[in-house]
Amino acid sequence: MESCPCIVAATRNAGKLVEMRRLLAGLPIKLVGFDEYPDLVLPPETGATYLENARIKALSVVRATGLPSFGDDSGLEVDALGGAPGVLSARFDGELGTPESRNRKLLGLLEGVSDERRSARFRAVVVLAEPDPSGSIVEHHFEGVFEGRIALEPDGEGGFGYDPVFLVPHLGLTVASLDPESKDELSHRGQALRAMRGFLIARDFGGLEP
Ligand code: IMP
Repeated sequence: MESCPCIVAATRNAGKLVEMRRLLAGLPIKLVGFDEYPDLVLPPETGATYLENARIKALSVVRATGLPSFGDDSGLEVDALGGAPGVLSARFDGELGTPESRNRKLLGLLEGVSDERRSARFRAVVVLAEPDPSGSIVEHHFEGVFEGRIALEPDGEGGFGYDPVFLVPHLGLTVASLDPESKDELSHRGQALRAMRGFLIARDFGGLEP
C-alpha cells in the first residue's frame, strides 16, 4: 500500500463508487476502491436500519484491512408503499432482481396512484470508521435525504439503480436525466459525503493514518 492517508470505500456498487470518488475529489487522501481487496467479502446487510448496515460495511473493512473506511447504506422510501422498499431497496425484487426489474416492480405497484401521492425520498447514512491507537474503532455518522417523487415511467440514461424513476419535482426531470454534478448537489449521498468531507477538512485529516 502506498503512502497514505488513505481511506477504503466499503462498497462493491460501481455506481456508488463513481459518486464517492467525485464527492471526495481534491482531498489530500487516497480513496481506495474495493477492487484492491478482491478477496474481501462484505458481510450480509442484516441490519434493520441504514445506520446498522453502514456500520456493518465500514467496521468489517476496518477489521480486515486495518485502514480507515467508510460505508454507506441507502434506500428509497415511497410514501404510498408505507416507506418501502427502504433498507430492503437493493433486494426489492429478490436476490436475482436487476435495477430494471426493481424499477418495473415499483412502477407496477404504483399503477393508478396519482402524482400527488407518489412522494418519495432517497436516504443515505455514511459511517466513517477509524482504527484507534488503543485498538478500538472510532465512528462518525453522516446523513442525507433527497426528496422527490416516483415518475410515471422511467426516463434518462445516467446514474444507477432507481435514478430513472426518481423525479426531481422542481426540475421536472428524473435523476437519470441530470448531469452528475447536479445529482451530487441534490442527492442524499452528496449531502452525507459533503458532511464527511467537511468533517475531514475541519480535522485537518489527522486520524486517517492507522
Ligand atoms: P445499498 O445501500 O447498497 O443497500 O443499496 C440500496 C439500494 O438503493 C440499491 O438498490 C441502490 O441501487 C439504490 N440506491 C441507493 N442510492 C441510490 C441512488 O443514488 N440512485 C438510485 N438508486 C440508489
